[in-house]
Amino acid sequence: MTATLIDGKAIAETLRAGIAREVQRTEAAHGFVPGLAVVLVGENPASQVYVRSKAKQTVEAGMRSVEHKLPDTTSEQELLMLVQALNNDPGIDGILVQLPLPSHINADRVIEAIDPDKDVDGFHPMNAGRLMTGTGGLVPCTPLGSLKLIKSVRSDLAGLNAVVIGRSNIVGKPMAQLLISESCTVTVAHSRTRDLPAMCRSADILVAAVGRPLMVKGDWVKDGAIVIDVGINRVDAPDLGPGKTRLVGDVDFSTAKEHAGAITPVPGGVGPMTIACLLANTLTASYLRRGLVPPAL
Ligand code: NAD
Repeated sequence: MTATLIDGKAIAETLRAGIAREVQRTEAAHGFVPGLAVVLVGENPASQVYVRSKAKQTVEAGMRSVEHKLPDTTSEQELLMLVQALNNDPGIDGILVQLPLPSHINADRVIEAIDPDKDVDGFHPMNAGRLMTGTGGLVPCTPLGSLKLIKSVRSDLAGLNAVVIGRSNIVGKPMAQLLISESCTVTVAHSRTRDLPAMCRSADILVAAVGRPLMVKGDWVKDGAIVIDVGINRVDAPDLGPGKTRLVGDVDFSTAKEHAGAITPVPGGVGPMTIACLLANTLTASYLRRGLVPPAL
């Protein structure tokens, strides 16, 4: 069996185009343009790339993008004061503080300082609680995007067995919550799980969010399963030339595709959905803050 490829790049493009249309309609109908503030502290090269791409796609969707680039000598107090100012700014609907933060800053304290209604990353404990209790709120972008990819191949997930590998607050746990909300029977596997291959073989939906290159082998995948590879790992690629590298996922794509019914590639799977969902969350937040019903995306 050879799996259907879930084209995250194309699905994200369609989502972004829908958001751009809604942003235009919002301005015409309600007279406001959603605004996203992205805060970057320090010089982490990967973070700089992410922030640039978030700002670019925000502007392309017709929203306002505000960037705050702070030196890595910024104190926690200074960062908290900026977050407070953005909380109070009526023109800002979404606040994203790019992680990781320098080690002298307590990331939990900063996340908790963000107004939960502007927390477009969905990391605030209030939004984690809302997700757990099924009472709305803003949902972390990567699991939200992963769910959209799963639903692009199958809309009704009720009763399916889902296995999520990874229990982080930003991917694994919210992913499990979303799948519970879809009436899946969910197992969360992690570094201490016994017989992970057997557990994976029970999964109709398998989500890998670990950070270990090519860990999930083809014979761990149930025939016909939907496989979502969240992992992004840079590995040496001597076949491309000396010193070259490439990105691979947590799933051994070449063998897994022989068993899966549908599978995401890396790159071009979950990655593009994450930023598209950040834009979706910003649009949603801009409506909810004004007491309006957000557009369905
Ligand atoms: P994390 O390090 O916070 O969590 C990793 C999880 O994997 C942990 O819960 C750990 O228990 C589990 N784990 C580690 N070794 C394991 C093993 N041998 N067997 C089973 N489970 C094991 O990572 P994270 O922030 O959740 O990210 C996971 C991966 O997803 C990383 O590769 C990261 O780069 C990627 N990621 C991608 C996106 C995207 O937009 N595509 C977004 C966020 C994270």
